[in-house]
Amino acid sequence: MNDLTLAEKEMLAPFVTNTEGPVFVLTNLPEVVKGALFSRYSRSSLGLRELLVKEFLGASEAELGDMLANASAGDLARKMFQAVSKAQSFYDRILDGYGDDSIGELGGAHLALEGVSMLATKAVEDARIGGSPLEKSTRYVSFADKANGEYRFYQEPRLMAAHGDLYLNTCRSLFEGYKDMIPQLTLHLQQRMPREEGVSEAAWLRSVKARALDGLRGLLPAATLTNMGVFGNGRFFETLLIRLGVSHLTELNHLARDAGRELNKVIPSLIRRADPGHRHFEGFQRFYTHYHAAVKDTATTALFPDREASSLPEGGVNLVDWDRDAETRLLASLVYPETDLPLDRLRAWAEGLTDEDKTALFKTLTDTRENRRHKLGRELEMVEYTFDLLGDFGMYRDMHRHRTLTQSRQRLTTRHGYVLPPEVVEAGLEERFRGLMAQAAHAWEVLSVEFPEEAQYVVPMAFRVRWLWKVNLRALCWLLELRSQPQGHPAYREMAQKMFRRIEQVHPRLASLLRFVDLHDYPLGRLGAEQRLEEKRQEKK
Ligand SMILES: Cc1cc2nc3c(=O)[nH]c(=O)nc-3n(C[C@H](O)[C@H](O)[C@H](O)COP(=O)(O)OP(=O)(O)OC[C@H]3O[C@@H](n4cnc5c(N)ncnc54)[C@H](O)[C@@H]3O)c2cc1C
Repeated sequence: MNDLTLAEKEMLAPFVTNTEGPVFVLTNLPEVVKGALFSRYSRSSLGLRELLVKEFLGASEAELGDMLANASAGDLARKMFQAVSKAQSFYDRILDGYGDDSIGELGGAHLALEGVSMLATKAVEDARIGGSPLEKSTRYVSFADKANGEYRFYQEPRLMAAHGDLYLNTCRSLFEGYKDMIPQLTLHLQQRMPREEGVSEAAWLRSVKARALDGLRGLLPAATLTNMGVFGNGRFFETLLIRLGVSHLTELNHLARDAGRELNKVIPSLIRRADPGHRHFEGFQRFYTHYHAAVKDTATTALFPDREASSLPEGGVNLVDWDRDAETRLLASLVYPETDLPLDRLRAWAEGLTDEDKTALFKTLTDTRENRRHKLGRELEMVEYTFDLLGDFGMYRDMHRHRTLTQSRQRLTTRHGYVLPPEVVEAGLEERFRGLMAQAAHAWEVLSVEFPEEAQYVVPMAFRVRWLWKVNLRALCWLLELRSQPQGHPAYREMAQKMFRRIEQVHPRLASLLRFVDLHDYPLGRLGAEQRLEEKRQEKK
């Protein structure tokens, strides 16, 4: 129910899914208007539709009658322009007046970034809250094609100016090797894993191709150009643009400039502080510069005498911290909302439970889960783990995509060695693969002396990188169950399984909650999923 006139309702109709009921969705309105409208809503006695008519579309009864009688696309555009201007001044008032940054979350945009390096996608995907990225897959799409006679890799300007031949030759050789080896490895895999009876040929061919591309993605340098889409809210984009804008890497500065220009056409008010001319941007720039310099100084002056000895976590997975009283924390928090007692009292209760009691309690919880999407309660977030991880950059790219945890990675280097996929050896491609890795390692050694940040572009994805995760049990449950599924890449499946084994060692009862971690080995992991897809396709025909 609302007290809008018939004329007002008619004008509203294109902008709401219904003009009467208490539940409706906004449609056909610019993002900034929707955002401002929602924000205004919190301080008004009016309903959203009344606000839209009276404060944003700003139409008087006379104007409305005129508009409806002579409605044209031009009128609508004029109204929209008026609404956007009002929204803009509203944001200026609210952001400057009240400093309520969260109103930037009330509008969003779909941003496409094409021809960006894999290194740059990581910088974008590192932003966690309020954004949803999706990137071209190295498993289903080959990166061997050229554009204008050149392989698709980022030609980093500082490296090109100082060591152009070395950089170009290294990247070109890697792509050449990648392109040549795809048909060779595919043929080998077809022979080694022939199609079994009852398996569709199309599904088998697709899974073999995916396996070949999985095996060879390690040859692609971090400079490889790819495409990505990001859906995010204004606050997400504003923070992202600032971070990219103050980065040391030229590509990220250019991305910030280009993305800022395009986003300004859709959500200008929501990202205005990311404009390099804005006083806030200058402040952020100073802050980030000083902050990073301080951290760098600390790292440079610290002494690490056992640097070599401690360079590899065992098997790539080192569980560094875990809660010694994890079960007590979890059990006390679980019952907390069902009682009226304070937490310390409930912890005392949990500490008094016998091992048998605890085993039985955890088993009851585990048994309620029918599949991995049945997530246990947020009380599992009371238990935390810190991992120090070492894995190839290709795998890191996948694992990095999880957002409900704290992550930090070191710079790409060739010093931790590389992972040679067994199928590459079996297919007789080892020598060429190793030769290319040696060429890339040499290039990195030369480039990194003067350009440690930029030299990352030349590092192929087979080389290992070190990163850390601080993650709670609930996020870990989702992550390990997802990343151990048969259709996953063998490299991250193995890491997920190793992480699970470590949890099992320190918290066997808690590990039992993660009942859908898949510990099996699958030679052609995509086959099951491809076969199911194929059967569905056939059913639809
Ligand atoms: C088989 C497979 C194929 C894939 N293929 C591709 C690909 O081709 N290209 C590509 O770019 N990525 C691909 N991915 C990665 C995928 O898109 C996700 O980035 C990744 O799985 C991590 O996201 P998540 O939502 O699963 O979990 P997390 O980011 O760990 O989030 C944990 C949980 O938090 C919640 N959550 C987190 N953020 C949000 C949000 N913004 N909105 C709502 N809920 C949220 C969800 O409940 C989610 O389950 C693939 C993943 C798999 C498993």
